[in-house]
This record gives sequence, C-alpha cells and structure tokens, in this order.
Amino acid sequence: MNKNDSERMESILQSMGLKSVEKMEDADVILLNTCSVRESAENRIFGHAETFLKLKEQKPHLVVGITGCMPGRDVKQAMKSRLHGVDLYFPTKDMIMLPKWLSELNPNLRPIDLDKDYLSVRPVHNNSFQAFVTIQTGCNHFCTYCVVPFARGTEGNRSLESILGEVRDLAVHGCLELTLLGQIVNHYIAPDPKFFSKKNPYTKNDFAKLLWEINNVDGIERIHWTAPHPLYMDDEVIDALTLPKQVNYIHLPVQSGNTEILKKMNRRHDREFYIDTVKKIREKKPNIGLGTDIIVGFCGETEGQFEDTLSLYKECDFDISYNAQYSQRSGTVAAKMFVDDVSKIEKKRRWERLQVVMEEITFRKNQLYIGVEVSVLVDICVDGVCGGNSLEMKRVNFPGNEHLVGHIVHVRINHITEWILSGEMI
Ligand code: SF4
Repeated sequence: MNKNDSERMESILQSMGLKSVEKMEDADVILLNTCSVRESAENRIFGHAETFLKLKEQKPHLVVGITGCMPGRDVKQAMKSRLHGVDLYFPTKDMIMLPKWLSELNPNLRPIDLDKDYLSVRPVHNNSFQAFVTIQTGCNHFCTYCVVPFARGTEGNRSLESILGEVRDLAVHGCLELTLLGQIVNHYIAPDPKFFSKKNPYTKNDFAKLLWEINNVDGIERIHWTAPHPLYMDDEVIDALTLPKQVNYIHLPVQSGNTEILKKMNRRHDREFYIDTVKKIREKKPNIGLGTDIIVGFCGETEGQFEDTLSLYKECDFDISYNAQYSQRSGTVAAKMFVDDVSKIEKKRRWERLQVVMEEITFRKNQLYIGVEVSVLVDICVDGVCGGNSLEMKRVNFPGNEHLVGHIVHVRINHITEWILSGEMI
C-alpha cells in the first residue's frame, strides 16, 4: 500500500513539473514514505533522514519531507522532535496538500488543483501491464499488536465508480494484472452500490460483487488481492475465487495457531475457525496456493502455544508465510496492556524453527510442479533469463528474451527450489 501511495505522490510531483532523478544529490525534493509496522523499519527512517538533512546543508533549497505511517501515528509529534530541519511532515492522506506546500517553499514549482480525496490521484505505474489499485484504507479492527489503525485511521472505502473508472482506464492502457489493496480487503463496502451491475450474481458481500465487476473488464487477465481477514471469507468471497480471472492464490493472514494468543491479539477468530475457512477454500478450489502472515513471540506466548502455530502451519499446508518476530509498537493496545516477555533470543529461535518448517513444506509442494505447465506473466528479463509469477504466485524463471516482458506465456517446469520454479517456454 505504501508503494501505491508513493506512485500517487510521484504522479502529483510530475504534474507539478518535477522529474525523478537517479542520484539523491541531484534532487530538489526528497520525500521519504515511511513504514511503522516494525520498530526496525522506523529506526531506519531516522538514519535516512539524517543523510538527507546533511545534503540540505550543502543545498539549502532542497525540500525534505517525511510522510506515510510515521507522521500518521505521531500525533504528539514526539518522533518529529528528533527530526530537526525536516520541511514537511504529513500523513499519507494529506498528500493532496503537496502542490500548495511545495510551491510555497519553491516558487519555481507550479501549484495544481487536486480532489480532496487522495485516492482519486491516479498513480504512476512502473510498467503498463501490472498495477496496484487501492480500494480501501485504514482499519477498525485494532488487533492489539498493530499500528495500522493509529497510522492510517479507521476504515474508509473508495467509491465503486472511482475504482471501476481506474480499472477500465488501466485496461485500455494495456494492464493485464491488478492487485486490489485494502487493510481488510474483503470487508470492502461500496459507498455507491448503485454502480453494481444488475446482472451481478452476488447479493451480500460487496467485495465479491466488486471482483465479479472487475472480471468483466476486457483486457484485465489476472486479479489478485491482499489482505483479506478470515472473518470475512464468507461463501460469496470463497465462490469468487473461482471467477475466471482470479489468480490461483490467496494470502490469508493467521498470525498464530493458538486460540488464546489469537484472543490476546484481538483477531476475533479462533484456530478452528481459521482451519475450517481453509478447508472451505480448498473444497471450492483444491489446488489454490495459500500464503499467510505469522508473528512469533507475542506477549506471553509459551512454547506450547508456539507449537500450536507449527501444527496449524502443517495442517494448513501453506505455500508461503511471511514470518515476523513480535516487535512492540508504542501506542498499541499490546504495548499498554501486555508485557513483551519473550526474549529476543527465544523469538529468533521460534522464527528459525518456523522458517525450517515453511521451507520443507514449500519444497515438497513445489516438487509437484515438475513436468507441469504454468502460466507466467513475464515482468523481467536479464541476460537471457526471464522471470515472472505463475497464477499460484510462484516465481518462475526460464530462458527467453526481453520482448517477452509484459506478456503471459506458458512454461513447463523442469527444476525447482524452495523459492524458484525453472523451466522452458512452450
Ligand atoms: S486487521 Fe488487524 S492486523 Fe490487519 S490492519 Fe487491521 S488492525 Fe492491523
């Protein structure tokens, strides 16, 4: 989502007549779009800011701005007080003020008018065949470890008319693959439901309805979305996984395999509910790739509770997991109510055990791809080796040439590792 926000900010800066440069020494404006999800990400921001501010000493007209999650959650400006000399410090949603602020700081820059909703700013995309489309921002769930509701505010859903307008425009300009983004993407509620087609077969879940509408946009070939919450994986959303353009992959965060820890995390579902949801998904789409997010070493997590995470991992037979060692974030409910009492060494040990289980399972599952033909959207070609994602979001490499970039091709797999499938184009 931050990447998509950066694409929007780039679009605003371009409209003001600015161009991107390779070296920071050549820049007139530097904006740092920050992530607060882990402490280490936030700590790095101070280091980067220091470098930019040193540059400003030699180049006084340089504008240095910090945006994203850090200013979003820093309501008392405690972190800002450590960033002397920063010209702009604003949460993501205020990016629409950039033209005004920048033209005040540098009269050579021309101001432009923008809609008050930053989501209506069309992003600049790195390539024409893939795009992120944000459909929702913020979150009302307040998982106890999570900084997002503080950094991005409560849930806000983008208008259906605006989403479909962006999708149609992307399709006309050659976009093949969309990734729909939302903090709880499957909790999307259209503020303007009158724009749903009368033929839409879904009646209850607006996200399933949206998926059906986008499936009917000519030119779009692949639809991917992240991140759903298990609570809202109802029958309609599960059914929508079978829509023709839906990728054969779902990323469904679980965070822990232990019901008590899930309760403490305020995830609002238990272990059994998650496992049942996965069963329902696989009944509908047996070969779907499944990914998740897991936090190890949450406050008070015992060895036995961690073992529950390992056993859930094996039972769900995930293809991939983004595993994190719990990092306390100031301002969250967990930071106020619980003690971060699992030692760093123990968190690392649990993380390593989980990584080993993940890699064993992924390697075993990838072996099933030997001899199988997969569809690949080629996104890179370097020195005669093309790369892209399959419909299962597996990374695939094969010999080819740069003319294949931006095309969907078929590749027969003949070699696998944990993270790469290799083969020959058919
Ligand atoms: S659902 Fe929980 S983890 Fe996800 S953004 Fe909302 S509060 Fe954070």
